[in-house]
Amino acid sequence: MIVVFGSINLDLIFPLPAIPRPGETLMAPGIRIEPGGKGANQAVAAARDGAKVVMAGAVGRDALAAGALALLRAADVDLSRVIEADSATGCAAIFVDPRGANAIGVGSGANLAAGAAQVEDALLGPDTTLVLQMEVPADETAALIHRARAQGARIILNLAPAGPMDVAALREIDLLTVNETEAAWLGAHLGCGADATALRGALGVEVVRTLGEDGADIATAAGSTRMPAHRVTAVDTTAAGDCFVGVLAAAVDRGMDLRDALGRASAAGAMCCTRAGSQSSLPVTRDIDTLLAASGD
Ligand code: ADP
Repeated sequence: MIVVFGSINLDLIFPLPAIPRPGETLMAPGIRIEPGGKGANQAVAAARDGAKVVMAGAVGRDALAAGALALLRAADVDLSRVIEADSATGCAAIFVDPRGANAIGVGSGANLAAGAAQVEDALLGPDTTLVLQMEVPADETAALIHRARAQGARIILNLAPAGPMDVAALREIDLLTVNETEAAWLGAHLGCGADATALRGALGVEVVRTLGEDGADIATAAGSTRMPAHRVTAVDTTAAGDCFVGVLAAAVDRGMDLRDALGRASAAGAMCCTRAGSQSSLPVTRDIDTLLAASGD
């Protein structure tokens, strides 16, 4: 089983003629509304690849909550550990210009009320893969890591967006996933290099550094390797990283070895890039299998 402790948002996407300057109002012809939040995205990605997923997080008692939870519900994710907080549901306003450049403002809202106590010890045993990111309070994430280590769960931390995290907690996880920007931040923070091998040396945990269309750089006890990305025609890379992490978690949770699980995550990430959208563009098992079969993996 997978337990995701993380953010749940609603994304409001405005296709504008330009990114507004301070004081400027620009009109968009329409608006796209999608559920988002790294926690929810990763939970949906894992569930769509067949995992049994429990989501722990927080939404507000407001009209945004139902939309934020819609695709989690549709994917049969267990929402019994999602609480209703007094603050508003997390919401991102995403301005996109015709060239695809964007500016994003996120109101964390209810996500800041998410707490480690929402996940009971019984859910943190050896049959659980715990998946965490950095859009809920880092001290609550660290507290959950300490408890999960004591109870025996496998722990995957996606340090996204990069920010301070208790180093003792970082050393207790099993697998760290970071993209290039997050790896650079963490390397500077720890005073080491930014590649997977250097981060593994500093923390003593398995590290995957994703590199977009250049694939991923992996450091484990077995050594360091580079995994190329699948060649696809990318139309929208939003949520590729979340897709990668969710599918990686689903694969290791059902016993796949890390190398094969990374291959599956890479196919899923590539598949996600071939469709417009974020949470809605996450692939299902059949999509991933089709790409893997086509590439002979
Ligand atoms: P993030 O979205 O967190 O920045 P990345 O851009 O590194 O994450 O993407 C995560 C993974 O998704 C990559 O390691 C790769 O496997 C896959 N991916 C991302 N962009 C592409 C692309 N343009 N073509 C093929 N695969 C991609």
